[in-house]
Amino acid sequence: MPSSVHEALEQILSGIEPLAVEHVPLRASLGRVLAEDIRSPIEHPPWDNSSMDGYAVRADDVATASATAPVRLRVLETVRAGQRPTRSIEASTAIRVMTGAPVPDGADTVIRVEDTDAGVDNVEIRDVRDLRRNVRPRGEDLRVGEVAVTAGTAIEAAQLGVLASVGAGTVPVYRRPRVAVMATGDELVDIDGFDAVRRGDRIVSSNSYTLMAAAQAAGADVVDLGIVEDDPAAYRERLARAAGCDLLVTSGGVSVGAYDFTKDVLRELGVDLRLWRIRMRPGAPLGFGMLGAMPWLGLPGNPVSAMVTFELFGRPLIRRQLGHARIFRPAIDVRTRDDITLAAPLTHFFRAIVEWDASGAAASLTGPQGSGLLTSMARANALLVVPPERMTVKRGETLRALLLGETGYASATFDI
Ligand code: AMP
Ligand code: MG
Repeated sequence: MPSSVHEALEQILSGIEPLAVEHVPLRASLGRVLAEDIRSPIEHPPWDNSSMDGYAVRADDVATASATAPVRLRVLETVRAGQRPTRSIEASTAIRVMTGAPVPDGADTVIRVEDTDAGVDNVEIRDVRDLRRNVRPRGEDLRVGEVAVTAGTAIEAAQLGVLASVGAGTVPVYRRPRVAVMATGDELVDIDGFDAVRRGDRIVSSNSYTLMAAAQAAGADVVDLGIVEDDPAAYRERLARAAGCDLLVTSGGVSVGAYDFTKDVLRELGVDLRLWRIRMRPGAPLGFGMLGAMPWLGLPGNPVSAMVTFELFGRPLIRRQLGHARIFRPAIDVRTRDDITLAAPLTHFFRAIVEWDASGAAASLTGPQGSGLLTSMARANALLVVPPERMTVKRGETLRALLLGETGYASATFDI
């Protein structure tokens, strides 16, 4: 009995672990996952500092100030960000401070410059809305020894900034998987063979492009094994180049055609076959096994099937190797805008466009859904999921949708 989608996911992911930890320069760590907690060796910020351009004062000195009865203080000095005060605040004195500058001892308030006459030697305080405000205390963001970024966090812009602030010039992250991608089929050429495509003799191996791009987008380094003709000896020879990779992805040759050699060759090479066929559409034929320590994902050749199965199984596998805790695409409830009739009791993944309207998220199919119609995938921003027990879906009914990518949800208008 072929596996369900959930069973297949479990079988595929069961033996997959984060790869080894390596130390990389912080600047090269974007998109990686932190392997250890990083603690702050410092108090951050390192000094009490002003959050305003203004005057550091004692609240008690200025408490009565108003526009009609300003309080006049002697300005002891001016402290810029990057300088230190040389004086402390005493009765009826102020120190002019810029944003980020250390707040001098004795001060508990920074009056913003807008509430003063902006004086340099003396200053008139005209408003006290800032009483006991605008001092950011030392250690407010991070204390010495406090965890700045926890293990398992994906490093994005904000995490990079925090790590930089605490001096983490190199960071421990899980290694990026090397993913070998091989296309199979006598009918295939790369773009440089497009003359044969024009003549009507060949098609371009679009899977080589989609799968390598999807693997890279998932965070992997890719190794292009190119296109191999349907000949077991050629498969063997080419597969040798996957040695040392962390995942082998093949496309095509896993069906029941007379020239579908992928499984046989992988078997000969000693693959421990864990999975064969899934109760889903597109993508029913799908092989998964272990070739020694290297997982092998044998995707179907049809361009949509290859992409959908990579999305469902390849991407989470790569993300697990990268150390991500959240390895799956987000799924949401959507209202379907189409009537759908299913021909078989399989989990169906329809290419759809999810949009938000006044009543929430709604999904429209991208058009014809053939597994060879890659344009249906290129138009989609989601996979609409119809579970196997559903034979019809009526417009307006709620289904789950897997949201693909980020750019598919980018907005042309600033809609807040
Ligand atoms: P297969 O799984 O090898 O039987 O191929 C199924 C269908 O997918 C056939 O129509 C193939 O021509 C097509 N196909 C296989 N591999 C690729 C590829 N790399 N790029 C585009 N189409 C492919
Ligand atoms: Mg083929």
